Amino acid sequence: MRIAILSSEVVPFAKTGGLADIAGALPKALRQKDQGAVVVLPLYQQVKRELLSDVVIEDVPVPWRDGVRPTRVWQSEAAGAPAYLIDAPEFFSRPSIYGYQDDHARYAFFSRAVLALFKHLEWQPDILHGNDWPCGFATVEVRQRRGHDPFFQKTRSLFSLHNAAYQGAFDPGDLWWLGFGEQPERDDFMLNGMASALKAGLVAADALSTVSRRYAEEIQTPEQGYGLDWLFRARRDRLAGITNGVDYDLWNPETDPHIAANFTAKDLSGKRECKIDLLRRFGLPEEPERPIIAIISRLVAQKGYDLIRQLANEILQTGSFFIALGAGAQEYEDFLQSWHDSAPNRVGIYKGYAGEPLAHQIEAGADIFLMPSHYEPCGLNQMYSMRYATVPIVRATGGLDDTVQNYDRATGAGNGFKFEPYNAGALLEKIREALYFYAVPREWARIQANGMLVDNSWSAAASKYVELYHELSKL
Ligand code: ADP
Repeated sequence: MRIAILSSEVVPFAKTGGLADIAGALPKALRQKDQGAVVVLPLYQQVKRELLSDVVIEDVPVPWRDGVRPTRVWQSEAAGAPAYLIDAPEFFSRPSIYGYQDDHARYAFFSRAVLALFKHLEWQPDILHGNDWPCGFATVEVRQRRGHDPFFQKTRSLFSLHNAAYQGAFDPGDLWWLGFGEQPERDDFMLNGMASALKAGLVAADALSTVSRRYAEEIQTPEQGYGLDWLFRARRDRLAGITNGVDYDLWNPETDPHIAANFTAKDLSGKRECKIDLLRRFGLPEEPERPIIAIISRLVAQKGYDLIRQLANEILQTGSFFIALGAGAQEYEDFLQSWHDSAPNRVGIYKGYAGEPLAHQIEAGADIFLMPSHYEPCGLNQMYSMRYATVPIVRATGGLDDTVQNYDRATGAGNGFKFEPYNAGALLEKIREALYFYAVPREWARIQANGMLVDNSWSAAASKYVELYHELSKL
């Protein structure tokens, strides 16, 4: 089967969050199942040029506004599956990946270039698998083209939602020149007086999926649907919940090249070295008996930072170190800075996007990992943590609820700690519960082992996608 996966970020080329991890791992996992998957993304200025191959596709004719923009497309095998990178510097050569007034135009161009590329290569996709709002345009376009262009007649689309809060909203006045001004496309985009690339993708796709079973249910409620719950309910017969996997080629403490010492479920001695290394990196005293509580996340309200802020004193009173890596909202960066300044020997921070090595070093060296998210479509760090013998404390929402079971002393089962109500008291209780067991080495080792032995590999998730693709191709 010919499967085209489209994503605005893909590991190892460009990443701001979990979407990149997924879009990097899924094509490779599909290839391992003998599926002809390719992945397409924009060539950002952030992409390391040494990842690209020398063979370049020149002059792909991309229809744009009233003319044609000949476009260069680069290729790479660095993701373990063929990748194509669309080179249009006026759109993608900028200091950051997102956050521009014309983001909608940038990704509308990307979408148009992807379809033009496939025609240019005479590579007819059976499945066009778009991810999140930047790929809404291509999803609409493939449905539009199917009506009059035999090349795309057999192409079916899957649209995967990784976060319903990011909707790609823009001025509907732009729909005309983007090529979506007529009905039914115009209506497909409209949401609360704005145009939404997310909504258009959700309406136009032949099938929908999201990244955990629980999140697939949650988005059908007004609390989590961000104004689209009615649409998710209306399309629920075509909405699958497939929990993301972990790319164990990249996230595996036995082989990880980024960490101070490798370790296995049978021999955790290397983890102690990783802990000491982590304390050094953050300029904290070498007191490995003290637990390290860590967090790595985008600094946005979704991730529960207001709860951590409320508990700043109580967390220090537990005697733990706290290590935070994050980039995002100024108010949370300011909080982290002032927390660090008030307790420089106990709180280590890195503000900004650090790239892969530091994220791996934190996973390997920490004892406890916090994810008190308000909502969490899937979440990857709780699964990375488990594999690195770092015990997650999570809120029971979305994929966190599906992948973490609270430790039960009576049965010895459970791979972490989980609380339900979104409040600081409930989080503090779980931190205390986790620290209680941290002080009982035999039981802590049990919780760590339970987590390390969970199989969250991509293979199972990829099989579910293959099943979906096959169902779609019969439509
Ligand atoms: P989300 O997709 O909502 O950001 P996930 O838990 O699914 O959350 O994925 C986050 C991914 O991004 C993880 O791989 C994590 O290590 C990485 N990450 C997040 N913030 C940073 C940062 N500041 N520096 C390095 N990596 C980060």
